[in-house]
Amino acid sequence: MTAVRDVDVAVVGLGVLGSAALHSLASDGVRALGIEQFALGHAEGSSHGRSRALRFLYHAPEYIALLPPALAGWSALEAESGQPLYWPCGTLFFERPGGPQLALKIPLAEQQGVQLLRLTEREAKVRFPAFRITAGSEAIFLPRGGMLDADACVAAFQRGAAARGAEILAGAPVLGIDLDGDRPVVRTGTRAVRAQHVVVAAGAWTTRLLPGAGIQVRVTRQTVYTYRPSDPAAVGPDRVPVWCDYDRLWYGFPDHGPGLKIADDNPAGEVDPTAVDRSLDRDEERVLSAYLRERFPTVDLSLVESGTCLYALTPDHDFVLGRLPDAAVSVVVGLGHAFKFAPVIGRILADLATTGRSRHPIDRFRPDRFAVGEAARPA
Ligand SMILES: Cc1cc2nc3c(=O)[nH]c(=O)nc-3n(C[C@H](O)[C@H](O)[C@H](O)COP(=O)(O)OP(=O)(O)OC[C@H]3O[C@@H](n4cnc5c(N)ncnc54)[C@H](O)[C@@H]3O)c2cc1C
Repeated sequence: MTAVRDVDVAVVGLGVLGSAALHSLASDGVRALGIEQFALGHAEGSSHGRSRALRFLYHAPEYIALLPPALAGWSALEAESGQPLYWPCGTLFFERPGGPQLALKIPLAEQQGVQLLRLTEREAKVRFPAFRITAGSEAIFLPRGGMLDADACVAAFQRGAAARGAEILAGAPVLGIDLDGDRPVVRTGTRAVRAQHVVVAAGAWTTRLLPGAGIQVRVTRQTVYTYRPSDPAAVGPDRVPVWCDYDRLWYGFPDHGPGLKIADDNPAGEVDPTAVDRSLDRDEERVLSAYLRERFPTVDLSLVESGTCLYALTPDHDFVLGRLPDAAVSVVVGLGHAFKFAPVIGRILADLATTGRSRHPIDRFRPDRFAVGEAARPA
């Protein structure tokens, strides 16, 4: 029979959110163990790659409220790690006049005092010479915000957590979480770990680990494409912002190596996270590269790489973040937009694990909101 080990908190899943939680727990001096099914830094989930956007334009005030502490957390992690993690290049959004996205999000940003500049087509071209918004569209530039280096951020959280005494177990799939005893027990193939509290940060695999929690997650395969520009200096983070075309929900990043990135934010085909086809979709690539050439008409572009990443989506497009009602378990599901919040989500998960509460507004994200009879909120 497997011997049972005791820890204060077990964190299941070491993508960006579990790694951030482990970092916060270790910073608090909590005896914490992080367990990851794959090798650290793997590319099977949602947190890998070179870039993630940090934007202040959001569909609900709860998200905007979490951004200042998130940004402060990134600065602290960058200082701790001694390497660049964040480029404050600003974010640019454009949409045809009368479109739904800016009409919803601009007032919310203004109410929360977020600085935003309305740009004409010409002003956008003067500010970002290599980039073109769609002719006739409205543009909003938010100077605050920018781009994170995803792989470097995840590694920095893990290094910082380990340096503070957190244990990390990689290549160890958790087969189940036993909730029948007085404390939860996490089981891998070879170990059993009893914890005062378990944090589940398993992304696309969440419902497999917590089948009885009533959480609903749809997993989709998203592809990102990176193109080497003929003149990298003209399209670096000092010359190009993170941008999003709100008519199509296509977005892209400046080049901080190895090129300009573009992706489609619309949820793609649903997949089983254990059997994802990661081959290149040549039709999609052709469409997106033609579009990218319109955005950067003076830059020659050649495909460097494509990568697959998973969205873990809830029916109402809001995060899951909170404690389960009847168990010493907290859970997070970050959909297609949680990376930017990782430092504050890590803090929230650590506080939920040790005190049962958070000082941040997270009621919107309660894990039990999918209970039968409760209507899903619109996106
Ligand atoms: C293409 C793409 C673009 C994105 N762009 C942005 C953006 O610009 N800005 C932004 O803020 N967000 C963005 N996101 C979203 C963001 O990246 C995710 O919300 C975030 O990475 C989710 O992190 P996670 O730790 O929850 O998930 P994951 O990174 O998937 O981590 C979950 C971990 O749990 C592990 N795990 C699962 N089951 C088990 C088990 N049984 N035992 C042990 N380990 C287990 C997995 O192996 C995995 O490592 C994007 C996502 C994608 C896919």
